[in-house]
Amino acid sequence: MRADSLSKTGTPDLLLHVCCAPCSIIPLSFLARDGLRVHAFYFNPNIQPQDEYQRRLETFVAWASSLGLPFSAPDYQGLLWEEDVAVFGGPYPLIANSPDYAANRAARLRRCSACYRLRFEAAARVAAERGIACIASTLTISPYQFVETINAELARAAATCGLSTREDDFRAFYSEAVALSRQAGLYRQNYCGCRFSAQEAELERVARRAARREQRSNTKRDTEGRESSESGHGDGSSVLFSEKLTAAAGVLQENRTDEPSPCPLSDEPSLYLHEQGSGDADR
Ligand code: SF4
Repeated sequence: MRADSLSKTGTPDLLLHVCCAPCSIIPLSFLARDGLRVHAFYFNPNIQPQDEYQRRLETFVAWASSLGLPFSAPDYQGLLWEEDVAVFGGPYPLIANSPDYAANRAARLRRCSACYRLRFEAAARVAAERGIACIASTLTISPYQFVETINAELARAAATCGLSTREDDFRAFYSEAVALSRQAGLYRQNYCGCRFSAQEAELERVARRAARREQRSNTKRDTEGRESSESGHGDGSSVLFSEKLTAAAGVLQENRTDEPSPCPLSDEPSLYLHEQGSGDADR
């Protein structure tokens, strides 16, 4: 830590790149615990549309003001993101068991790396201009981000300006961050920021919902299968059906006349066949 990055009280300064207010809660508490004087830097040209950017910014400004946290937030620079990052494209949804999972993950990683780089390079430049020797990021709170890449990009950006970094991994505290941000009444978005991430998040939610539905219907079918078997249906019903057939054949044999005889099974075969057929159709 450079001497010129000490505040008047002798406390080491750190510039924290902040992606949004909810994600800043846990990192801020750790940095305070470690005795660092934090300058927050809200620079997120990745957030689309601009209304959403504004909403997240206003949430952060209110939150930082309530904490007395010094911060800076340059104007929205969406064009920068378009030039440097949008070229990597998307959407690349990460859907478990999908044949596209590995390719999508690699493509998304390339795009997100460029996105981290753009934001951290700006953070490093601002830190250097202000004589702050260390930078960090709130992004590692999210289990949806590439944490190793975040730390690597942070180190890379810091090195270009002769700074150091704090390489954290706050993912273990994600649930706590969600609970605390709800308690604080902070606006919480449901996608990372760019337009691709909005589509990816939606596709992934749809896939998770479908997987949950399938899981529920499997569980229901297993339960019904067990109950049916325990109450004498299922396999038991076919045993019962074949016993009835045998019995009916016996009765027919005994009652053989030249007159047509009503079938002793009456409507029952169709009943049993129907039950068995329904079960198979569900499987
Ligand atoms: S998903 Fe998030 S980190 Fe990745 S490119 Fe989009 S906004 Fe940037």
